[in-house]
Amino acid sequence: MARRPLVAGNWKMNGLSASVAELQKIMAGTQHFANVDVMVCPPATLLAGFAAAARGSRVAIGAQDCHPCPAGAYTGDIAAEMLKDAGAQAVIVGHSERRHYHGETDAMVRDKALAARRSGLAAIICVGETQAERDAGHARAVVRAQLEGSLPDGAADFALAYEPVWAIGSGVTPTPHDVADMHGFIRQMLSARYGDAAQRTRILYGGSVKPNNAAELLAVDNVDGALVGGASLKAEEFLPIVRIYG
Ligand code: PEP
Repeated sequence: MARRPLVAGNWKMNGLSASVAELQKIMAGTQHFANVDVMVCPPATLLAGFAAAARGSRVAIGAQDCHPCPAGAYTGDIAAEMLKDAGAQAVIVGHSERRHYHGETDAMVRDKALAARRSGLAAIICVGETQAERDAGHARAVVRAQLEGSLPDGAADFALAYEPVWAIGSGVTPTPHDVADMHGFIRQMLSARYGDAAQRTRILYGGSVKPNNAAELLAVDNVDGALVGGASLKAEEFLPIVRIYG
């Protein structure tokens, strides 16, 4: 089945209000790309401004995390409903930096994905093994456990992002063969759990996607787009990646 690709930029903890200029360059550069969905996920402080700036463009705005509850005494946290209210259309959940620095478990990630569903946001659920886990031959087992624990029951109404932890920010990527192997495995797991609906679920690759390696990575079977970190901060690096589908 042909799935419409998605290229999403995760800005992490980068960007000030002046960064709307970079978003505008991305908007201008993608306006004629009819075959690909484009998303920018800025820090929460920029969500409302970016959503307002991007209205009517081809660029959707996403958030980077949400709290599972709709409201409450959770100082510093942000509910999915608040992200939606600020103009977000999607939210990344279970990014390895959240799992690592904030101790997020699979169960927490699943609850966040459910919160996204409840509030009408599309969840982008991240999974991926560490270098030590890959070296020990456990990459599939780790990803299997993350999928079993992090994915919500019911509809396959989310996107998945396979992001090997060792590839994030390192400049190192898996071989196309290894990406094909893991994405095929993830597709099988999704099909076993969600049936035919899993054919529509987009599986993004993430981890050091750059203009010089994107064509090779995005051509791999079952790779339906990319989650891009560092290279999404500058339009001049992000646009050549999106243009592969243009
Ligand atoms: C990420 O953290 O989601 C990511 C893919 O980062 P980078 O592209 O910088 O490796």
